[in-house]
Amino acid sequence: MIEKRHFYIDGTWVGPHQPRDHAVIDPSTEEPCAVISLGDRADTDAAVAAALRAGPGWAATPPAARLATVERLLAIYQSRAEEMAQAMSLEMGAPIDFARDSQVGAGIWHISNFIRAAKDFEWLHPLGDGTPGAMIAYEPVGVVGLITPWNWPMNQVTLKVVPALLAGCTMVLKPSEEAPLSSLLFAEFVHAAGVPAGVFNLVNGDGAGVGTQLSTHPDVEMISFTGSTRAGKAISQAAAATLKRVCLELGGKGANLVFADADDTAIARGVRHCMNNSGQSCNAPTRMLVERPLYDRAVQIAAEVAAAIKVAPAQAPGRHIGPVVNAAQFDKIQSLIETGIKEGARLVAGGLGRPEGLNKGFFIRPTVFADVTPEMTVMREEIFGPVLSIMPFDTEEEAVAIANATPYGLTNYVQSQDSARRNRLARLLRSGMVEMNGQSRGAGAPFGGVRASGRAREGGRWGIEEFCEVKSISGWAD
Ligand code: NAD
Repeated sequence: MIEKRHFYIDGTWVGPHQPRDHAVIDPSTEEPCAVISLGDRADTDAAVAAALRAGPGWAATPPAARLATVERLLAIYQSRAEEMAQAMSLEMGAPIDFARDSQVGAGIWHISNFIRAAKDFEWLHPLGDGTPGAMIAYEPVGVVGLITPWNWPMNQVTLKVVPALLAGCTMVLKPSEEAPLSSLLFAEFVHAAGVPAGVFNLVNGDGAGVGTQLSTHPDVEMISFTGSTRAGKAISQAAAATLKRVCLELGGKGANLVFADADDTAIARGVRHCMNNSGQSCNAPTRMLVERPLYDRAVQIAAEVAAAIKVAPAQAPGRHIGPVVNAAQFDKIQSLIETGIKEGARLVAGGLGRPEGLNKGFFIRPTVFADVTPEMTVMREEIFGPVLSIMPFDTEEEAVAIANATPYGLTNYVQSQDSARRNRLARLLRSGMVEMNGQSRGAGAPFGGVRASGRAREGGRWGIEEFCEVKSISGWAD
């Protein structure tokens, strides 16, 4: 059993103010694999106080020195990648090869993109021609609280910690209590990279405790949060009294518009994308809308592809999907599959219960529903499991209307060989991101949504700007 009861505060590992053990469950076995502590207000206050003390010094550190620190952090992250892959695989069930490539790789990608963005970032620049003496300065927001979920642990931690460091903010990270091991390891990397004491602090805890304490803390200027829409609303309300900046990256219900002229692999690609990470991605294309002439063939392909997806424990090598994170998610997904069946969706792959041969662990059968209608629960709710819903459409206008008929707006997808149609649809879909013909976001592009998906913009230069205040200065002497 791994014992990791300490927090990282003011540059050292300290025990909790009051013992409050929390078991981390290995989702492949349902057995405890580690024990951490859940912090209380005294722990949160100590971390915020350390961040507050370190603030002026870190803000005054030249951007080039902060960049050099992040470059060291990247080198350490890369050299200890295997430890990180093992930690994420254990805590949230990512298959080990997928953890190595995708879960660890996402962190490398974001840190590298931030490094590139920071090299070009103009922290102080003239407003423009014709306004002599007018300057724009990007300054750190101050102490920031970073609250992250369990589904892509390092993806989300690097999207927050790295731009905060580059911008000159000091911070308290509260990772998900479901998946804290990777963040505890990341804290070791931060320490080894020579980040000064107090700049980065980590306190484990739950939403009701440390999460709420950070959201209401008078010395915390901003909360950057990724997770459920429910928690996003609670944080916004909790933060209102102190008028914090709140940056939210929440759920999604992505539509994938597949036209009859789509390339041959579009359906299979869409199914695999939906099931990737056991369906636990906020930008998963979970609603597949297929143009009528292709519909029957698409349902058949989708059923075959889903049936061929292997499900196995996280530690097994190879290309399969693992369990979902915990019992609550398992039960929620089972209940949504049951609702899909009851509401009359046609089950063409997967279904209730565990995959054959797996009697323990939070394993879900890759599931495909056809003939779904926009009113059905499986078309409306974020399932966060390997469950795809397919329905036909007749016209482009109808497809756009169905795609946009959701409170969410994170990523939508289009598959078509007609370039004029693709460009038209890219502008009509109401979401922060549109990805077409299997091309994922470019390096350094902003990640974020609209409406119930939250309105944060993470990654690249937009991600750095989120952690800055923009100061307007006039009368500046050249
Ligand atoms: P959650 O939102 O409850 O937890 C995410 C993080 O927020 C954790 O660190 C948690 O401790 C913290 N938190 C929870 N309530 C809080 C509060 N009131 N104040 C401050 N912090 C709080 O998500 P979950 O329970 O882990 O997952 C439930 C659902 O959330 C999933 O089914 C999925 O729909 C969604 N989700 C979305 C994403 C995403 O990337 N958009 C990630 C994870 C989960």
